[in-house]
Amino acid sequence: MNEAAIDQYSRPLKDLRISVTDRCNFRCRYCMPAEIYGPDFPFLKHSEILTFEEIERIVNASAQLGVEKVKITGGEPLLRKQLPELIHKLFNIEGIRDIGLTTNGMLLPNLAAKLKSAGLKRINVSLDAIDEELFAKMNGVGISPENVKKGIRAAQQAGLQVKVNMVVQKGINESEIVPMADYCRDNNLTLRFIEFMDVGTSNGWNWDQIVTKKEIMAKLIEHFEFNPLDANYYGEVAKRYQYDDQTTEIGFITSVSESFCSTCTRGRLSADGKIYTCLFAENGHDIKSFLRSGSTDAQLREFIAGIWEKRNDRYSDERTEETVKNKKKIEMSYIGG
Ligand code: SAM
Ligand code: SF4
Ligand code: SF4
Repeated sequence: MNEAAIDQYSRPLKDLRISVTDRCNFRCRYCMPAEIYGPDFPFLKHSEILTFEEIERIVNASAQLGVEKVKITGGEPLLRKQLPELIHKLFNIEGIRDIGLTTNGMLLPNLAAKLKSAGLKRINVSLDAIDEELFAKMNGVGISPENVKKGIRAAQQAGLQVKVNMVVQKGINESEIVPMADYCRDNNLTLRFIEFMDVGTSNGWNWDQIVTKKEIMAKLIEHFEFNPLDANYYGEVAKRYQYDDQTTEIGFITSVSESFCSTCTRGRLSADGKIYTCLFAENGHDIKSFLRSGSTDAQLREFIAGIWEKRNDRYSDERTEETVKNKKKIEMSYIGG
């Protein structure tokens, strides 16, 4: 490894979230509302998207600066053709010790085994409700939760570690907190509750729609007993708990109620080759043009290090009415979760 990249608040670059497509087969209201992401929406063109070889070069350069973990996301990453080939390439990069993927699970029955053989270890599957009608409404395309559960089973059978992501929104799916916890416990799945975030500008976010960790806990405590677990590593995002009977774990991503910018080690790469230093960043750094202009691996490394060393983002620590309303922000479906 070359010298590690450290930002303005002494945070090292450790993780890279890579969006491989901005397209999706769902239209979750909180992420890609159908009235905005309609048939005419100008999604990225094939030529605008990074090739697997380009992603491989960027990850290789990042690994030399300290990146150890990679998470593949989107849009829906499983829509990207030949995705296992990319996983395989990344798996072989020196220094990368962990590759994960976040998906809505629809395409897992066909792909889980291929992804596992390519080197994928773990997967996060998003499921916001197990009530048929509610889930069909939330995903915006009428898909039944049974389809996602099928994907989860396929991933487990393929030997992938599976976590389930549930975004909780007030007045929408709070009623599903306990049923989701039951389903995950029964199926040996770690459940992650995610606070609804003000990512982008198209999901109509407001403070009243958040269900905080504290509120989720209050519901869970009526049904289950659990104990806090220590963080596994510096910068771990989830606050984790284990059930008393040690069946499985639950975790909370408290991006709004207890922000965690001070240990944020995540850089982000968009499908069209821009590096973002925060989920709430306004602008990205165009690494694709730099790469396509013939830069060497050493130049690529310097380019990334230069971006990271200037980084001073801490949006969630500084969130105010003003930033929520007026800050220009990228969309979640473009940059990935
Ligand atoms: N399509 C894949 C999926 O849904 O898992 C990957 C991309 S999706 C943008 C990544 C994660 O971000 C999902 O778990 C999703 O529920 C979460 N997400 C999307 N919009 C969000 C928001 N406004 N607040 C909190 N989480 C959000
Ligand atoms: Fe698609 Fe994931 Fe966004 Fe839902 S959360 S619309 S599945 S990208
Ligand atoms: Fe990291 Fe930005 Fe999220 Fe803070 S707001 S944790 S800096 S991505």
